[in-house]
Amino acid sequence: MIPVERRPLSPKTLAELERLTQTDAVWSGFRTPDPKAAATKKSASAEVLSTLQVMFEGKCAMCERAGAKQVEHFCPRSIYPERTYLWSNLLLICGACNHHKSDLDPFNPAAADGGAALLDPAVDIPEEHIRFDPVTGLSVFVNRREGVRHRGEDTVNACDLDRQALYDARCERFRLVTFLLGLLSRSQEPSIGEAASILRDLIAPRRPHLAVIRQILLDPAHQALITAVATQWPALSARFDELRAIPPRSPAHQPR
Ligand SMILES: [Zn+2]
Repeated sequence: MIPVERRPLSPKTLAELERLTQTDAVWSGFRTPDPKAAATKKSASAEVLSTLQVMFEGKCAMCERAGAKQVEHFCPRSIYPERTYLWSNLLLICGACNHHKSDLDPFNPAAADGGAALLDPAVDIPEEHIRFDPVTGLSVFVNRREGVRHRGEDTVNACDLDRQALYDARCERFRLVTFLLGLLSRSQEPSIGEAASILRDLIAPRRPHLAVIRQILLDPAHQALITAVATQWPALSARFDELRAIPPRSPAHQPR
């Protein structure tokens, strides 16, 4: 999971979502709205979907895999029907993460901070809770205390974010990116240009597992290496800065 800025919707679509909320409109999905639905509802659904696609670069909010197509209600419709059409409650998610999370209530009354138990990439700074083991690709929980529930761990469990396909991919990404950084820090010969091109592609916004790249870029142990690469490859340097940045955060979800 990487921090993502929530994009604004047009006033027209926000007004339509508010109207749907106020009238307790029957849920008919954003992807396949009722063909008989009013044009305003169809238009609002289309804008919600397209904005989520842009916001998440077509990737799952939770696992960062490409090709996410489902709309996730952070607070599920079954428990919080009044948040069915609330923009801040909607995320883009893949089928696997959605299947695992299902109707789980994100709030954990037992949490010491009383806040949302699960992490939201538009609200939280994910690496304050979850990092990854570079060797195994498995999640490592920051400041985890035995016997105390942990928001990062709850999120990983809720969406099954340590499934094998994901930790294998993260592990591979760690190895490949640190290898490329090492290569690029040592040489600027024209033949190395292909390595720079591969790295530029791996760190592009649409690519999966950017949380791994963020972790490498933010790791104090890698700073000398990253500075050496950034100095020699200005095009990569600009993207490194984007990846390290934390975009504006949305207000935390509130329990009822
Ligand atoms: Zn996913």
